Amino acid sequence: MIRFYNTLSGKIEDFRPLRPGELGLYTCGPTVYDYPHIGNYRAYIFEDLLKRFLIFSGFKVTHVMNITDVDDKTIKGAKALGVSLNEYTKKYIEAFFEDIKVLRIQPADHYPRATEHIEDMVRMIKGLLDKGYAYFKDGSVYFSLAKFPDYGKLSKINKEELRAGARVETDEYEKESVYDFVLWKKVKPGEPYWETEIGPGRPGWHIECSAMSTRYLGPTFDIHCGGIDNIFPHHENEIAQSEAYYGQKFVNYWLHCHHLVVDGEKMSKSKGNFFTLRDLLARQINPVDLRYFLLSTHYRKMLNFTFDNLEQARASRQRIIDFVYELEHQMLPQKSESQTDSVSTMTGKALADFKDSLADDLNISSALGAVFELVREINSRLARNELSRPAANVVLTAIHEMDKVLAILPEKKEEELPAEIVIKIEQREQARREKNFALADSIRQELLQQGIVLEDTREGVRWKKIK
Ligand code: AMP
Ligand code: ZN
Repeated sequence: MIRFYNTLSGKIEDFRPLRPGELGLYTCGPTVYDYPHIGNYRAYIFEDLLKRFLIFSGFKVTHVMNITDVDDKTIKGAKALGVSLNEYTKKYIEAFFEDIKVLRIQPADHYPRATEHIEDMVRMIKGLLDKGYAYFKDGSVYFSLAKFPDYGKLSKINKEELRAGARVETDEYEKESVYDFVLWKKVKPGEPYWETEIGPGRPGWHIECSAMSTRYLGPTFDIHCGGIDNIFPHHENEIAQSEAYYGQKFVNYWLHCHHLVVDGEKMSKSKGNFFTLRDLLARQINPVDLRYFLLSTHYRKMLNFTFDNLEQARASRQRIIDFVYELEHQMLPQKSESQTDSVSTMTGKALADFKDSLADDLNISSALGAVFELVREINSRLARNELSRPAANVVLTAIHEMDKVLAILPEKKEEELPAEIVIKIEQREQARREKNFALADSIRQELLQQGIVLEDTREGVRWKKIK
């Protein structure tokens, strides 16, 4: 049985999906006003580990991640440059997709953009107005906390501090401001807006996620994730809007990762204490070493970013890589069935420990412990010349199996392709994302003429060389 810590109940719970064998997962995505920092990637990599483990455990996962391409910050950025919102966010959306690829984050099934779901948001806000959960004030619409007695059940805020009638206009605010929050913001001069049934304006940030998650996953779904900073007010507000509108439970399991910090402070744009992935690539940091670093501390523990810690992660990952290389390349005898048996037993135990650890609220330290234990045992057999080729192959199969969840071993395929071809493949991906299928097709044809066949799979695009 898989168990997770559920922020809603404050307890570790058995995971039971709504439908056997499948589940819906919603993860709050990037606000595309700038390049994401590696703290954001801690959240996305935790979510990737969770999703890969659920798939590994046999679930069919439908994963939705929103792109917040209209909010206070994107509007401010576009205004400062004097460009349209779309023009402004395009660059950062592209950067996000490039980043997740090099960090080996499996793509979601849907990436809904807020600007493409305004109708869904307006429908919900209208419903909330009709049901009396929301009200107009000076052309904007607010959610009335007094009408929703369950408010605070996720973040356990102190409702005594609730001030009747006080309103908060900004998307982000602290617990001291538990006020009626904004659902729809009246148009302001020089800002983008939509002409809608509830007047000209634009959505608040929180309604975006309620509308887009339920559009793709239904009114009640299984898992919702984010960083702990999302618990209040964002996720608390999502619950209020969704449960008030649909009249049923919104999400069964809420999973939140702790922060990546620098000197004890959350890494964030506003504090200026951040690195983007690009900053690290410029320092010759391997992105998969960063992935290993972000992944290898339990998601509910604070993680301290230092270059020393990153170096330690690199060295640990390298031990696994060296081990796999040795097993693949050493000349080993073909003999000894009894020996293969004992290695199979040891490997089977390591694989079972790995799975059991992750099933225990994604206990990654213990899961990696099982990997390193196996590395130690097998290395000592190698040193004593006691490992046969069949036994080594059993171990290799298990390590590659575990790497379906970890995704930290080198991918040979990508390294064999010349850079111009890799760029062409990425350009085709880009064209597909922009729904420029004519261009995507012409790139595919061009690659075909160079002997590269592309195949689009759930995990992304794969390629094959043909003669
Ligand atoms: P944002 O673009 O600010 O909405 O953040 C996107 C995701 O990154 C959210 O799930 C946040 O909770 C998460 N996040 C932001 N900063 C950090 C951090 N320093 N450590 C971990 N997660 C973070
Ligand atoms: Zn969200």
